[in-house]
Amino acid sequence: MVAVATDFETVIGLEVHCQLVTKSKMFCGCSADYSGAEPNTHVCPVCLGMPGVLPVINEQAIAFIVKTGLALNCEISPFSKFDRKNYPYPDLMKGYQISQYDLPVCHDGWLDIEVDGATRRIGITRVHMEEDTARLLHRTDPVTGEGYSLLDVNRSGTPLMEIVSEPDMRTPAEAREYLVRLRQILRYIGVSEANMEDGNFRCDANISLRPRGITAFGSKVEVKNMNSFRAVHDALVFEQKRQAAILDAGGSIPQQTRGWVDERGETVSQRSKESAHDYRYFPEPDLPSLRFAPEYVAEQRALLPELPDARRRRFASLGLSEAEAATLTESRDRADYFEDVSRALALDPQRSAKLAANWVLGEVGRWSNTTGKELAAFPVTAEALAGLIRMVEDGKVTSAVGKEVFEEMVASGRAAQEIVESGGMGQISGSDELRDVVRKVIAANDKAVDDYRAGKEAAVKFLTGQAMRETRGRANPQVIQDLLKQELG
Ligand SMILES: [Zn+2]
Repeated sequence: MVAVATDFETVIGLEVHCQLVTKSKMFCGCSADYSGAEPNTHVCPVCLGMPGVLPVINEQAIAFIVKTGLALNCEISPFSKFDRKNYPYPDLMKGYQISQYDLPVCHDGWLDIEVDGATRRIGITRVHMEEDTARLLHRTDPVTGEGYSLLDVNRSGTPLMEIVSEPDMRTPAEAREYLVRLRQILRYIGVSEANMEDGNFRCDANISLRPRGITAFGSKVEVKNMNSFRAVHDALVFEQKRQAAILDAGGSIPQQTRGWVDERGETVSQRSKESAHDYRYFPEPDLPSLRFAPEYVAEQRALLPELPDARRRRFASLGLSEAEAATLTESRDRADYFEDVSRALALDPQRSAKLAANWVLGEVGRWSNTTGKELAAFPVTAEALAGLIRMVEDGKVTSAVGKEVFEEMVASGRAAQEIVESGGMGQISGSDELRDVVRKVIAANDKAVDDYRAGKEAAVKFLTGQAMRETRGRANPQVIQDLLKQELG
């Protein structure tokens, strides 16, 4: 008899920690921008956890978390407070972390994701504020081969926001899409660089399986140490298979924390999971509680930019395809640039949008792919690109030449008009000038000429192509075709 595998449903919830881009740390005046700095140079008695010092709340960090909550459709608690989370670990300078326990700043929100054409609403349980820990660097002595650890306190006390989702995701693909959308929103509202590879956007995943149709949750495993969206996806796929095999064999899943080992493509057991009371949370006595007046929340809401979903729908309403609108709104920079080009074209809105989209997704996208640079580094202004697009549209240059001019604009920073005038790249539409070209092409292509006379349409295209090559793409193709017909009678 063949054993039939149980039809399991996967339940996934994600916890994301993301560093906020404030100037100073969460509770002291040290600069929070320590990337590239010598170890232990961005430190003071507060973030070193010296006794007798007092923390002061970073107002900008609080504004950022409120904006995040609003962008994720959360309720903002009228009353919130900080708590101490106690645990001994070498990277925790004070022996406790200032975090939030029962009264987070934001709660009960949601984020819509789209997977395989279907929209799914993922609940956001809470968004709370805490401080980051220092960083341990584990090394091996090259002589003795013994391991040792170094401590860099630069990261200690930098503002960290934790975004906890409901266990609403059902596949690894949904989990990845949730992270993509979340990162997009955090970058749009400018609160975090949200870069997983750089460690300022970190994700822990909770995953459990249950037989389909059962509402009770299976016992969950927390997976850590994933450094990319791909790693999150792969770790969850691995866990799905591992847990299903154990359950199918009649075993049970112990509640534990597992680490993803990217090189081996598997998760390994790290420790059994602490429950909440092990942290001995209690209210932070050195900080005042937070009260959010409705006016303050309204002020923060007014500061939010148009969010990616709304912007995507608006772009699509201009006649762009869903795919074009989605790609244009992937980053706020790209969406802004597209809109600037479109506005500078000043044609009817749909026409402007279509032309701007073609160039931003086409030539500008190609520039981005070849150079590996973000749009922020693109050297051609929206007005200058619109100038080139207009020249192509008005027939002053052919679209083939337009692409050459584009390259030259990127390389030299000069305006399209100037490049075309100085480089003799303007479109040739004069019949006198082109008649010689056409005659030369006819004389050199007997076979195509015979085909043309025999009524083969493709021969016209071929001869036009030859004439375009003769003029290095500058000839007006319509004039060439008209002249061909005249010359060949
Ligand atoms: Zn400090």
